[in-house]
Amino acid sequence: MTTMKVWRVKQANEEPLGPELREAAAALRDGGLIAFPTETVYGLGADARSTAAVERIFNAKGRPSDNPLIVHIAHRKQLDELVLPYPKLASRLMDCFWPGPLTIVLPVRDEALSPLVTAGLPTVGIRIPDHRTALALLEQAGCPIAAPSANRSGRPSPTLAEHVLEDLEGRIDGLVDDGPTGVGLESTVIELDGEHGIRILRPGGITREALQQAVPEARIDSASIEEPETAPRSPGMKYTHYAPQGELVLVQGDPEAVTAYIHEQAKAASRDGEVTGVLAFEERVAQYSADHVLSLGSEAELDDAAHRLYAALRELDGVGAERIWAESSGEQGIGAALMNRLAKAAGNRIVRV
Ligand code: AMP
Ligand code: MG
Repeated sequence: MTTMKVWRVKQANEEPLGPELREAAAALRDGGLIAFPTETVYGLGADARSTAAVERIFNAKGRPSDNPLIVHIAHRKQLDELVLPYPKLASRLMDCFWPGPLTIVLPVRDEALSPLVTAGLPTVGIRIPDHRTALALLEQAGCPIAAPSANRSGRPSPTLAEHVLEDLEGRIDGLVDDGPTGVGLESTVIELDGEHGIRILRPGGITREALQQAVPEARIDSASIEEPETAPRSPGMKYTHYAPQGELVLVQGDPEAVTAYIHEQAKAASRDGEVTGVLAFEERVAQYSADHVLSLGSEAELDDAAHRLYAALRELDGVGAERIWAESSGEQGIGAALMNRLAKAAGNRIVRV
């Protein structure tokens, strides 16, 4: 166990770079492992150029070594040292979405980063986060920071500093606590296919609709949750689980049928003495009698559901839920990312009613 430092960012600070962040940035530059908030989820950062530092990320998370890490930078001008020339389409997307939750996979420059970051791929996923504290920290650290989500591998990503402590206390050097994160789901990861093609490797904070609107002529294709095993373009796809400890089933179909199905299943499981949980939209929470019924907010406000999902999954762990059912939403906008994470959290146990 290492002693770990927790820096609390004072909300009232006009200038985010107080002594806390200076210390955290210095620790990063010295090869430390520091968790910090972003607009998506908390990240676990280390100097992306240092193999010794990056190796510690994999160890702390228990992450398989063939799953590459996203690199976070503060400024576009840091890109030139890290990547080879890239298509104009990439610059257009950066103009539109950076800083923000869009990770773009680009050809990596030889020797620019630790080979552990790219897991041996000729590419690297990069983004500039849209978060005051994250940007101040990255700027002060002055080096590219590799940062996957700050959870133990396979668990739901952390949207609160407390979640980071739950998973990683004693395994990392420090944590910058700046309250809840924004989007609540990870960034969208894309790769480019020539000048006009965008492939969504992982749906996330930037929606398909927003990408299409920014580049109307682009062909956008994406890995669908219906066929999770088709041609994984991103090695991480096979590992991400976001899973609670109980057995989660995602139920799709007409809302009335979904409610009836979940209600019956939960009743039967309760009779068998199992602790039951339901993740439902506000419109229907009152109809369930499971032991723990958690609301994801209104189904008309899927941004709220995205924001609440991981905390809700952790809450179900906290109460020891053994069998969990989740309602499904539409796949428009952030709904695509929400359903992608729920399907993975369910280990693809998806029931259509
Ligand atoms: P996380 O570790 O939770 O931040 O997730 C990072 C995601 O980005 C994983 O799904 C990775 O597989 C994906 N990723 C990172 N770098 C690359 C890359 N060079 N090519 C393809 N996918 C990548
Ligand atoms: Mg993750």
